[in-house]
Amino acid sequence: MKRVCILPGDGIGPEVIGCATSVLKAATDHLEFVEGSIGQSAFEAHGAYLPDETLDLMKSSDSTLFGAVTTPGAPDYVSPVLKFRKELDLFANLRPVRSFARTGASGPIDVVIVRENSEGMYTQNEVFDDTGVTTMRRVTRRACERIIGFAIDYAVRGGRSSICCVHKANVLKASDGLFLSIFRNMMSGAGSTLKADEQLIDSAAMHLVTDPARFDVIVTLNMYGDILSDVAAGVAGGLGFAPSGNIGPKHSVFEPAHGSAPDISGTGKANPTAAILSGAMMLRHLDMAETALSIERAVASAYSSGHLTFDLGGRHGSESFTEHVLRAMRSRETL
Ligand code: NAD
Repeated sequence: MKRVCILPGDGIGPEVIGCATSVLKAATDHLEFVEGSIGQSAFEAHGAYLPDETLDLMKSSDSTLFGAVTTPGAPDYVSPVLKFRKELDLFANLRPVRSFARTGASGPIDVVIVRENSEGMYTQNEVFDDTGVTTMRRVTRRACERIIGFAIDYAVRGGRSSICCVHKANVLKASDGLFLSIFRNMMSGAGSTLKADEQLIDSAAMHLVTDPARFDVIVTLNMYGDILSDVAAGVAGGLGFAPSGNIGPKHSVFEPAHGSAPDISGTGKANPTAAILSGAMMLRHLDMAETALSIERAVASAYSSGHLTFDLGGRHGSESFTEHVLRAMRSRETL
């Protein structure tokens, strides 16, 4: 039995995590669930965006499934997401994006973005002076080696064929140059059959839209990975299609890549696909690959049978789409 911490969060978080949890419960009885609070709802109830009790629950569980939080306007706000990534040493952010039948504007996409998750712009190190603001962006050899090693290992174990290093070393010669040189060294030393490729972030963004099939696994720095994964999600059909996993040596947190979507919160129109697929990623991480595959196949089956969500111009909201996924799982009418 594995213990999963559920953190619904704010906005559409509780809606899509409710759908994902019902799929997980239908898929296996080898999970037990505990629930914690995070985000604005946690602040209102406990005076903290990431209460200590929540962090303890995350640490004592085998994995966590998290929805999304809304960022308040307060200037001294520290993101609970950045905090748990740091506290749990979740150095790798794995963001697979694939289109399903009847989704995707530029042809099929099946790309995995491996995003460095611990430094770069996200250390929020900003210094004001009379003339403006200086933002410090740190790139360390250790973080580059960890994330590139993770990407190589992931690609080899997943039977992937190539890794593209995405960077801006033509401008950020020292910092992105360090990332690129470590990539070149590790790929040449890996002795693997993986093809090594390199692209500047700007041209990679363009190619993801015009020719997504040229990418297999992408490894990149923190902010580039954040932006590129939303570009890839757009190509697949929208933000509702991008699951993600934050992975470290001991802990893991899986979450849809999207935010709390206040514009559609409470309407029942949120696409739960990214949350459901984040649950499947979590199962694979917990060595339950077959169960994960049955969920992924059921999602693909729901789309290929024409059950389209609102973001694709269809008529299915979170609950009715999830019902079709559950039906596909029950009837094994999978692809
Ligand atoms: P967002 O991802 O919440 O929404 C962007 C757009 O995509 C919106 O139009 C929204 O309706 C749509 N969208 C997102 N998820 C969808 C889904 N599952 N189905 C259908 N449509 C979906 O980004 P935003 O609007 O820039 O941010 C809203 C809030 O979320 C902000 O407070 C932001 O800081 C926060 N945020 C949180 C996280 C997180 O918790 N990890 C990540 C990103 C943004």
